Amino acid sequence: MDLYEYQAKDLFRAHGVPTQTGEVVRDPDAARAAAERIGGAVVVKAQVKTGGRGKAGGVKLAGTPEEAADKAQAILGLDIKGHVVHQVLVTGAADIAEEYYVSFLLDRANRTYLAMASKEGGMEIEQLAVERPEALARIPVDAITGCDRAKAEQITAAAGFDAAVRDQIVDVLQRLWDVFVKEDATLVEVNPLVKTPDGDVLALDGKVTLDANAAFRHPDHADLVDVAATDPLEARAAEKGLNYVKLSGSVGIIGNGAGLVMSTLDVVAYAGEDYGGQKPANFLDIGGGASAQVMADGLEIILGDPEVKAVLVNVFGGITACDAVANGIVQALELLASGGAPVTKPLVVRLDGNNAAVGRKILQDAGNPQVELVDTMDDAARRVAELAQGA
Ligand code: GDP
Ligand code: MN
Repeated sequence: MDLYEYQAKDLFRAHGVPTQTGEVVRDPDAARAAAERIGGAVVVKAQVKTGGRGKAGGVKLAGTPEEAADKAQAILGLDIKGHVVHQVLVTGAADIAEEYYVSFLLDRANRTYLAMASKEGGMEIEQLAVERPEALARIPVDAITGCDRAKAEQITAAAGFDAAVRDQIVDVLQRLWDVFVKEDATLVEVNPLVKTPDGDVLALDGKVTLDANAAFRHPDHADLVDVAATDPLEARAAEKGLNYVKLSGSVGIIGNGAGLVMSTLDVVAYAGEDYGGQKPANFLDIGGGASAQVMADGLEIILGDPEVKAVLVNVFGGITACDAVANGIVQALELLASGGAPVTKPLVVRLDGNNAAVGRKILQDAGNPQVELVDTMDDAARRVAELAQGA
């Protein structure tokens, strides 16, 4: 999960990384009031989860509260690389003598952690890495020893930071490593880390990606989820613990196992070309032990998507045999009907693998008119695309 700049800076502050305080607001009047409280010159910064906000006109200095309101007016509603600005951070403006770059990240290719640092911050680091790779120091960080004082000194030396700021950056690096480890992040980036004319080092921007797999260790991170920006169906699926991703097509997909679901998406998209360009409406993996409740939850989410015209249930029975899945489907349809939301969209079911024949018989005997059994994955994909087109 990517964080907004203001959330990243909250984590920085909690771990003692020097950064300015600020206020997040959603309209120009609130920006004016925030600027008054902060006092002096402020920066008004678009809060969107993408970089390059400065270049796109999403970061503006304001000398007075009135000007802060004007800048907020100009920034709110901007579209920055497909992200519409709904909130801005108003924060005290720092004077900048120099701009640096520092980050910690997971280096998957080399199976280690990596520190990157440069005296030439501010600009887009991808560009620097391509144009002048020698200006960007890359130092592996061992997972066990981490970024201790010696490692931080090695990083600052490799980047060639001036003696005047070296001690401060050594301290900042250790604190950022603390953020990285204690918050279970996969990326902590500061661009720019600045030196003020007074010689203080300050994190002026912050980018943090948290590892969602570690969410269970951080109940407080739940507050960082931007509920308003999450697709409502995805939010409901997450509440139910389902692995669901909303897509833009008309064919609802349920399968067991991420690999099977991925290939089902491909097969449906391919078959859909012959039926007016029907496409998958979602990814939903109900996993190995598909109980009736999980099947019902999955169907409920998918059928709650108004764009869905037909559903393909594609299951390969393994440890959970097809008869169990079939019973799950039958019970799920009963659950939904008794809950006042009977299924009215066609359901194409393909069962294969362990106990497939028994599973198919269970569905046939149940005789639900919406359910149609198809034996192969390709035929099922064609049939569901046809039904979606006809709906
Ligand atoms: P990004 O463009 O999305 O990376 O947003 P940043 O937060 O990095 O801001 C972009 C640029 O705006 C920075 O590189 C600075 O040059 C400038 N900037 C941001 N905050 C301040 C500030 O407090 N004072 C001054 N003078 N410039 C700032
Ligand atoms: Mn930046």
